[in-house]
Amino acid sequence: MRKRRTRYRQRGRDVSETWIPKTSLGRMIQEGRITSIEEIFNEGLKIREPEIVDLLLPDLQEEVVYVTLVQKQTDAGEKSQFKAIVAVGNRDGYIGLGGGKAKQVRTAIEKAAANARLNIGFVRRGCGSWECRCGEPHSMLFQTAGKCGGAEIVLVPGPRGLGLVASETAKVILGLAGIRDCWTRSFGATRTIPSFSYAIFDALRKSYSLVTPGDWVR
Ligand SMILES: [Zn+2]
Repeated sequence: MRKRRTRYRQRGRDVSETWIPKTSLGRMIQEGRITSIEEIFNEGLKIREPEIVDLLLPDLQEEVVYVTLVQKQTDAGEKSQFKAIVAVGNRDGYIGLGGGKAKQVRTAIEKAAANARLNIGFVRRGCGSWECRCGEPHSMLFQTAGKCGGAEIVLVPGPRGLGLVASETAKVILGLAGIRDCWTRSFGATRTIPSFSYAIFDALRKSYSLVTPGDWVR
């Protein structure tokens, strides 16, 4: 398993040398027929291999958002498993979040990192702050809200230089997405990190719900 983790951390070129694609999308990328992640989203294709994301976004970074040991009492005795949540992003508009479970902590993190890549999506950034109006993509373009379980978050565009007015978990995820200035308001089970992190991810993904065809052309 150690070998696999190393492979994810490698830069694009190295991945292509060792990787044998299993899907037709993977083969198209290896053959150089698809060269950007935007093409995949434009065509509405689904990414089923994490290596695709490493190849197309070579500057991808990952952060372990959450790890915990879950113990369960079963007929056969006590069963323990690690649960991990990992966020990946290129700090320039792409963000993914995923979870993984395994007996070993390392394996749980690897599974979460692979799932985060499969869940990657684009965040529509901009300068939605009336105090700023610089037009640069340093914040959100408009206010969005996200929800998961009992946790809720609202992302409010902020002026340049504000920074991330957010909890540690939100700072990590927003930072990986490339949001530099933002106010946040959170409600409910904000201390439940799994729900809260998915609520943040939901809010970021909703930035894309008002996309016009012109945005793709740009
Ligand atoms: Zn601005």
